[in-house]
Amino acid sequence: MLDAETQLVALLGDPVAHSLSPLMHNTAFAEQHLNWAYAATRVRPDNLGEAVAGLRALGMAGANVTIPHKERIVTHLDALAPEAEAMGAVNTVVAERPGGSTRLRGLNTDVAGFLAPLAEHAERLNKAPALVFGAGGAARAVCYALLARHEPSSLVVAARRPEQAESLARDLASHDEQGALEAVPLEEAARAVRQSTLLVNATPVGMTPDIDETPWPQASDFSSGQLAYDLVYRPVETRFLREAAERGATPIGGLAMLVGQAAAAYRAWTERDMPTEVVKEALRATSM
Ligand code: NAP
Repeated sequence: MLDAETQLVALLGDPVAHSLSPLMHNTAFAEQHLNWAYAATRVRPDNLGEAVAGLRALGMAGANVTIPHKERIVTHLDALAPEAEAMGAVNTVVAERPGGSTRLRGLNTDVAGFLAPLAEHAERLNKAPALVFGAGGAARAVCYALLARHEPSSLVVAARRPEQAESLARDLASHDEQGALEAVPLEEAARAVRQSTLLVNATPVGMTPDIDETPWPQASDFSSGQLAYDLVYRPVETRFLREAAERGATPIGGLAMLVGQAAAAYRAWTERDMPTEVVKEALRATSM
């Protein structure tokens, strides 16, 4: 039952209708008997400032932020965590209320979410070569996370528009002390694909309904010893993951990152660990 004590969290985005975040967070709140509630709200770009003012005025506990507001919300916040500052993008807002005033802090939990399923492979990944397909927002979080945590010996960004990969490399240069980042046109990435320990698909290629597509059709370039990580989570097993696994690589699906970024936001708001197994079960029970 919602009442005057209920702590409220909103998703700010446009569109939000298909977001899985309300399901994940409300499942976790219920499992832990927390008097908290999460609602997805459609916020038009022109109304973003008013929406953030609403978080303050209504005493809300925080928010998630998605397309198209992740970059623009930065100017409306009071402080940024280092990873959000580095990327210029926020996906989580925490409302802190020291002495009654409200301070809104922006985080980017995609970084922690991406790293979560890699922890058990740290030994294989540290100082190893890595490659990322795509150079959009998710690729930025992936590259920042790898540079900060695993210090890859090389980090190739393979994008169909090389200028986008070059701009990513320029923007993250101050976090790339070893000069690991390298922008490579997608069609010239074969050698790096074969040599990389970690391959990450940070494009939407292979996502439902286009499940016969893959960011790298030359499956003979995959081998055992490699980790293949697909950020796409619909379907749970993509063509990229299936073909990599058939050649002995270890597959990691995008569901782990989806739940990982939610768990990091949940911890920031509630100071509790999300019951991730229950949340994954709830996701599996949907039609995804
Ligand atoms: P984005 O900013 O739009 O970037 C997408 C990137 O993929 C761009 O570099 C884009 O290049 C490239 N791309 C798109 N279609 C392509 C194609 N057919 N062939 C080659 N490259 C192509 O999107 P994003 O926010 O980074 O998200 C990327 C994917 O990651 C999405 O599927 C998203 O759902 C997924 N994701 C998952 C999680 C998770 O928690 N599992 C978190 C974040 C994102 P152009 O600019 O040239 O189109």
